[in-house]
Amino acid sequence: MSALFAVPPTPLVPVRGESDAYPVHRIFCVGRNFAEHAAEMGFEVDREAPFYFTKPPSCIVLSGAEIPYPPGTSNLHHELELVVAIGGPAFRIAAEEAEAAIFGYACGFDMTRRDLQLASRAKQRPWSLGKAFENSAAISEITRAAEFGKPGEQRIWLEIGDHVRQDAHLSDLIWSVPELISHLSNFYHLVPGDLIYTGTPAGVGAVLPGDTLKGQIEGLEPVVLTIGAAE
Ligand code: MN
Repeated sequence: MSALFAVPPTPLVPVRGESDAYPVHRIFCVGRNFAEHAAEMGFEVDREAPFYFTKPPSCIVLSGAEIPYPPGTSNLHHELELVVAIGGPAFRIAAEEAEAAIFGYACGFDMTRRDLQLASRAKQRPWSLGKAFENSAAISEITRAAEFGKPGEQRIWLEIGDHVRQDAHLSDLIWSVPELISHLSNFYHLVPGDLIYTGTPAGVGAVLPGDTLKGQIEGLEPVVLTIGAAE
C-alpha cells in the first residue's frame, strides 16, 4: 500500500559531534520527580511509584528555535528537565541493567499550559491539553552517555535573562534514571528513539512573549527557546 498523503517526518535530534541524528519514536514524561517541585504544586513527597504522561513526537522543537506563544493558554510555564535518550531495547529490566539501555542525555523543556493542566487536574481529566501541544517538548543536542557519565551531582538550572528561575542538582531526583527506566520497562517495550523527560525541579513559572529561556545541566549542551508573539 502507498500512503494517501504525506505526513511530517519523524523528528531528528542532533547528537553532539556527530553527523547522524537521533530519531524520536516516543516521548515519556515523569510527573513530580523533585521533592521541592512536588511541594510547590501542592503535593506531599513520597516514594509512591512514579507516574507518567506522554507527548507525541510532533511536540519536539530543537534548541535555538523561536516558537509562537501557544494557543488556548494565558499561563505558559517552563519546566527544565534532564532528558534520557534510550539506545537499546528494554523490557522488564532491573535498575542495575538500565545503563546498557541509555544512548545519551539532553536538556529539555516540558513546556506546560499550566492553566489547562490545573483545570483538567481539578476535574480528574487527562492532562493532554496542558502538556501535549505543538512545540511543547524542546530539546538540546544529545550527548552520548559515555561522554557525559552518570547523572549525579551535576547542577541543573534555568535562566531567563539574568534571572535564575530553577536551580537544583540531578541528585535531587526522587526516582533515579535507572529506577525510572526499570519501572517504565514494566509497562512498555522501550526501544531506541524513546525519550524520557525525567521531571522538573522547583521554580517553575510563567514565560512571556519576548522571553528567551536557557536551560543548562553541567556536562550537556544547553537548551534555548525564545517565546514569540501569540498566533
Ligand atoms: Mn515536567
